[in-house]
Amino acid sequence: MGKLTLQFVQNFKTIVRLNSPTQILEQYWGYTQFRASQLPIIDAVTSGDSILAILPTGGGKSICYQVPGMALHGVTLVISPLISLMADQVENLTDRGIEAVYLHSGLTRHEEDVILNDVVKNKYDFLYVSPERLKNRLFKARFNDMPINLVVVDECHCISQWGHDFRPAYRNIIEVREYNDDLQIVAFTATATDQVQSDIQELLKIDDGNVYKSSTYRENLIYSVDRTENKIGRIKERCLQDVTHTGIVYVRNRKATVKLAKQLTEVGILAKPYHAGLDYKSKQATQHEWQNDQIQIVVATNAFGMGIDKPDVRFVIHYELSPTLEEYIQEAGRAGRDGNLAEAILLYSEADRANKEKDLQRSYPSKEIINKTYHKLCFAYRIAPGYGEGSTFPFDLVEFCKASGLQIVETHRAMVILHKAGYISVSDKFEKPSKVWVNNRDFRDYLNSRKDTNKKKILLTQLLRDYDGIYYNYCKISERSLAYQLQIEESEVRSRLEDLRADNVIDYREQNDMGFITFTFRRPAQDIVKIDRAHYEDRMAHQQRQLDAMIAYVETTECRQKYIDNYFGFKLKEDCSCCDCCDQKHNVDVDYLESQILEVFKKDNVISLLDFKRLWSYNQRTQAFEILQTLVDERVLEVSGDDIRLVAR
Ligand code: ADP
Ligand code: MG
Repeated sequence: MGKLTLQFVQNFKTIVRLNSPTQILEQYWGYTQFRASQLPIIDAVTSGDSILAILPTGGGKSICYQVPGMALHGVTLVISPLISLMADQVENLTDRGIEAVYLHSGLTRHEEDVILNDVVKNKYDFLYVSPERLKNRLFKARFNDMPINLVVVDECHCISQWGHDFRPAYRNIIEVREYNDDLQIVAFTATATDQVQSDIQELLKIDDGNVYKSSTYRENLIYSVDRTENKIGRIKERCLQDVTHTGIVYVRNRKATVKLAKQLTEVGILAKPYHAGLDYKSKQATQHEWQNDQIQIVVATNAFGMGIDKPDVRFVIHYELSPTLEEYIQEAGRAGRDGNLAEAILLYSEADRANKEKDLQRSYPSKEIINKTYHKLCFAYRIAPGYGEGSTFPFDLVEFCKASGLQIVETHRAMVILHKAGYISVSDKFEKPSKVWVNNRDFRDYLNSRKDTNKKKILLTQLLRDYDGIYYNYCKISERSLAYQLQIEESEVRSRLEDLRADNVIDYREQNDMGFITFTFRRPAQDIVKIDRAHYEDRMAHQQRQLDAMIAYVETTECRQKYIDNYFGFKLKEDCSCCDCCDQKHNVDVDYLESQILEVFKKDNVISLLDFKRLWSYNQRTQAFEILQTLVDERVLEVSGDDIRLVAR
């Protein structure tokens, strides 16, 4: 396409898009108005400002860039952390008749090229990419030709190492500015403490005046902390309380998801586990069944998260403390996106705090242990003081610990710190086999277009035969067994796998099964290693502060929403009046609750039992029913059938 035609397309798009943001919202989304918190953001983005917007989960961040993106000509580049998120967003936009596309690692070079060409031709309104993509050669080569008018950084807290999802590649985003200094960049997140916020602002060069924050307050969310020694009993109770209520139960490790889901199933609750280690098919199936109300509960690790957009989740239960309040709020915030009452329940038993403190301590072994580990390593490899820099040896952690009388977990952690401090470097061993994923779209064409004697084709056929479902998910493979079956050398298998990867028909993650240690610094006298504050004290203190904030959330007697809001740098003026702490304040006063009940019956003479129940938050309910019973006994109220009414006097 020549320059003129391109110009024409751009002008044409400009001409047909003379619509205002509200018109676009109505035309494509069918919503009649922006939410109050969206308005100033839409204004700022439309007028070309680079901004940072912090809006709670479910606050409607996507529309804040999608609507302005539609109002601009050219393409909006969206940087997003997860393939599943990109896929959801693209599907969502496409369903609304908007041209959107995303780049992912499953594409062949050719497909990628076609997409990039179309982007250059201004065929798309939205292009979603991962942060890693910004460094990709092919992508960089085409970047300057793309009619990019707006860059969006979604989930931008990933930029900050003080955030809970730090993703170093997010820092690649500044490269975009290298191509074009004037590019408008807008960044979105649900959670940013002051520290994370200033990190984002600094990296993306966003002034204080261009930061839009809205309170974390969620009117319909009932936060509570349930102190109990019988957590499982509490979970069962809540699930069975109303089996039409969908919920999520978060636990901290994979094993626990499976175990707890089983325990719930045993009492007739429809529950399934979800964690990152499950294969793609069963994860998809579980999410689908839950999304469609075929199961009630997903018991999940934090892998069940971003991109989950089920509006009617009625409760989110945390089996344990989250490591940070940010994570907690994000996970709990998945309840009640539809605006109806929902609960965020944190289960807490007295031992939890001490356990978490211990975990934290353990991940930072004492300096004596670090020094001792270093000493034993030097001893094992006969490194004399002043020597050793640059020498490499085979290394096996288990063997080493056995021979030196050290503890494995502790030693591993000490070595991580020695690595960060620049004394050693250890290549990953940890017995990970290689993994292969076959590109579902292309392998058939690939096979059809090659002779049966083609060496790569033979290997690909063998992979498909040996590893069931290899085109759904990465499968652990054994080069040795492939070599044996094909009667070729293992090195030949590796090089054919690499060729197939270069042809983009598979992805091959090769894992060394030999571990190595390299001494990256000469051995100091007395084996006293110097460890940078940033890698030890600062990091540890930071994690401790995050844990303290989480524990303070448990222990606060103030309104929980006030506490949360305050943590994120706001000042909520009024209590939420529905969390357990707020309830507690009213609960002390039974007379108060009674007067509230009478007030209700003065307004409406008759109320159904169900509506009465709905009037009270979970924690008030028991007491409200007790008072109701007393009032019935005292013949102030009467119950007939399903109705409760004031006794006529
Ligand atoms: P998040 O801030 O968590 O990224 P989303 O962008 O996914 O939130 O939006 C959450 C939900 O709110 C979506 O279903 C979206 O369609 C809906 N939504 C956003 N803005 C509006 C609006 N102005 N009117 C009605 N619904 C809206
Ligand atoms: Mg979002």
